[in-house]
Amino acid sequence: MLKLKHILVEKSISLEGIRQRKNQGEASREELYIMRIKFWGTRGSIPVPGKDTTIYGGNTTCLEITLECGRTVIIDAGTGIRRLGEKLMKEKKNEDIHLLMTHIHWDHVFGFPFFNPIYDRSSKIYVDGNSNCFTGLKYTFDNKMGDGFFPIRFNDLRAKITYLEKMVNGLLDIDGTVIDSIPLHHPQGGLGFRFREGNKTLVFITDNELGGDAWEGRSPREYVKFCKDADILIHDSQYTPKEIDKRKGWGHSDYKAAFELAHNADVKKLILFHHDPPRIDEEVKAIELLCKELAKEKKSAMIIQAAKEGSKIDL
Ligand SMILES: [Zn+2]
Ligand SMILES: [Zn+2]
Repeated sequence: MLKLKHILVEKSISLEGIRQRKNQGEASREELYIMRIKFWGTRGSIPVPGKDTTIYGGNTTCLEITLECGRTVIIDAGTGIRRLGEKLMKEKKNEDIHLLMTHIHWDHVFGFPFFNPIYDRSSKIYVDGNSNCFTGLKYTFDNKMGDGFFPIRFNDLRAKITYLEKMVNGLLDIDGTVIDSIPLHHPQGGLGFRFREGNKTLVFITDNELGGDAWEGRSPREYVKFCKDADILIHDSQYTPKEIDKRKGWGHSDYKAAFELAHNADVKKLILFHHDPPRIDEEVKAIELLCKELAKEKKSAMIIQAAKEGSKIDL
């Protein structure tokens, strides 16, 4: 501590300056890549901050996708979106944001009232995704009865927030990146997304019970078709095969089902996602290793990783 204080005084470095330079460094590296995925929240169900979740993260679902055209697409507004909002404001990237919502369970909308761009007049946010997504985001502030869940009302927000409503009936095209969707096996439904940019494909499917037959999801064959030849598949792997029997009907998958989907679809890289809240870092790591064992048994060259909060993947 003394040493740090000494450095700060010696070199006249302000705390503000440290953060600014770090952000500048990250921004200039981003320009080098075509499509970048950054995980701001990887956890399922509820945020779990603390010393046991520092590696894989404690924030709930939020991803930042930087498209080839430079536009920012956010998937879901879990608690991870708070820090992403701070970054977008600093980089002045709040004027043209797409927010895609898989569904509106708490862990996917929790962070929206803390997303700084919604309080800035220059922000333009285009919302799309599951049919009830816009209502769900509004209800994090207040509902029809005027009961407040938050001190500020949705109608008082300064940003221009528009519901595009394209994905309910088909594709969303953002400057040549085509995004289509597939229904999820999940209570109250939801959507998984597929991004196609040139010859690259990224598929994001969370909160999905593979093999489930309730709700309006799709058959195993249809999920395989949707993920076919994807460069990256990010899929719900909340449970282990041992746990899944007692969790049937909860709308989530085990890592073995996620691997089998990826294997049957010839996916190049599988990212295990929506970590179970009680899972400590060592356990998430063990799940990653067990899933790699499955790949070895099948003589598969697939790359397998457990999603880490703060990590980036270039595509
Ligand atoms: Zn969830
Ligand atoms: Zn859910």
